[in-house]
Amino acid sequence: MQSFQHYIDGTFSDGRSQFESTDPATGQSWALMPDAGPEEVNQAVEAAHRAFLSPEWSSMTATQRGKLLFRLADLIAENAPRLAELETRDTGKIIRETSAQIAYVAEYYRYYAGLADKIEGAHLPIDKPDMEVWLRREPVGVVAAIVPWNSQLFLSAVKIGPALAAGCTVVLKASEDGPAPMLEFARIFDQAGFPAGVLNIITGGPEAGATLTSHPKVAHVAFTGGPGTARHVVRNSAENLASTSLELGGKSPFIVFDDADLDSAVNAQVAGIFAATGQSCVAGSRLVISNAIKDSFLERLKQKAEAVVIGAPDDMATEVGPLCTLRQRDHALSLIEQSVAAGAKVITGGVKPDGEGFFFPPTILDCSAAPDAPCLSTEFFGPVLSVTGFDTEAEALAIANDTQFGLASGVFTRDLSRAHRMIRGIRAGIVWVNTYRAVSPIAPFGGHGLSGHGREGGIQAALDYTTVKAVWLRTSDDPIPDPFVMR
Ligand code: NAD
Repeated sequence: MQSFQHYIDGTFSDGRSQFESTDPATGQSWALMPDAGPEEVNQAVEAAHRAFLSPEWSSMTATQRGKLLFRLADLIAENAPRLAELETRDTGKIIRETSAQIAYVAEYYRYYAGLADKIEGAHLPIDKPDMEVWLRREPVGVVAAIVPWNSQLFLSAVKIGPALAAGCTVVLKASEDGPAPMLEFARIFDQAGFPAGVLNIITGGPEAGATLTSHPKVAHVAFTGGPGTARHVVRNSAENLASTSLELGGKSPFIVFDDADLDSAVNAQVAGIFAATGQSCVAGSRLVISNAIKDSFLERLKQKAEAVVIGAPDDMATEVGPLCTLRQRDHALSLIEQSVAAGAKVITGGVKPDGEGFFFPPTILDCSAAPDAPCLSTEFFGPVLSVTGFDTEAEALAIANDTQFGLASGVFTRDLSRAHRMIRGIRAGIVWVNTYRAVSPIAPFGGHGLSGHGREGGIQAALDYTTVKAVWLRTSDDPIPDPFVMR
């Protein structure tokens, strides 16, 4: 069995113990991962704190930080095939997707490398004649970054990139499910030439996460995961009043009007829900469709869903792989059972296939007669689409917004005015019009409600890792008068 190590203070080490990682395609253990206990978490935070204060990092120019990030991006691009292979092996995410996504991860680091020396302060036109006042943007300090198992290299890039560009140091806790790509990434990061302790990578479960987020030397917690875990994160970080950014789940509406380009809409919906085997926070998991075209659209979706190539995640021909964990599959099965009991109708899928691994077929549930079915309100994090029909635009908007989440949304229509009305009306951090699931380092990403707060990507994400210092400089040579002379 392969064995992986933590990366703390520029050194590779074993955790307090090891745990076995499972290959989701076979259900068998394939590698040993280090488990971080409170001691390793503390060592990692102390290392990050020392590095934050060290002259090697704190006096490094922003331009030089950018150069190191550019070097890191090049190393990621060179090693992308190996990283993709490991992510596929350890999480079951298909190789087609990991290869494309990890090559693009390098672009995120390049974006923040270029931004490092463009994080500017400001000069204020202050209302006092003998003062100069300006703002310095300074790094917040040690950042605790926590990521879930899906797309860990991507989800960590949108934290590590802006945090290091801003001059922070980072302790990243990889998920206990599928941590191999992050631990391998540590070996690549080590070659980029950053001072020791600037980035530390550990793995472990809720105990390690709780120790990290409640550590008094952590200034900011950047968390991606489920809303339930986020509540623990906020409670623990509140102990030290650390700031938080939360990227959580979604139950995103995919709205199709009867005037839409239906060929494109069908393809975008298939990719929107079945890509990444549905294990995507922005999955278009609620189809909200005009009743005028519902039956024919569902028939086309059903055909496409049944033609999807399900298979080994390391095969380039595979379109849908296994779910990452058995827990995920049990969750999907139970939610389907409850939804059917509430009146949802299975159009296709819904049944666990025979054989090894954690596979689950593309599934479509018609919930038009079951508005209270839990599949409409609870995230599956699997390839399951729930469908509701509408008659009017107002109804479509009401259904789209009938959720506690607010991450992503999609609208398919050729009517420009209607598109604008929908853009205004939808409560979500992202609206895709006549497209779905497009991302870029240049565009902010995030949501509100149960989908969290804060944004990743774009310039603002780097500013969020800074704090503003107001500097007052008195320019007058006149002596400061004695304040008590009138007494
Ligand atoms: P999860 O919330 O169970 O775990 C996420 C991370 O939190 C893991 O590293 C886990 O070890 C850690 N953790 C667990 N308990 C903790 C605690 N008490 N304190 C601190 N950390 C703790 O999520 P998951 O099941 O691994 O991932 C799926 C969820 O992530 C879904 O809800 C999905 O929508 C969400 N997600 C969101 C985005 C986004 O950008 N909005 C992206 C991907 C995934």
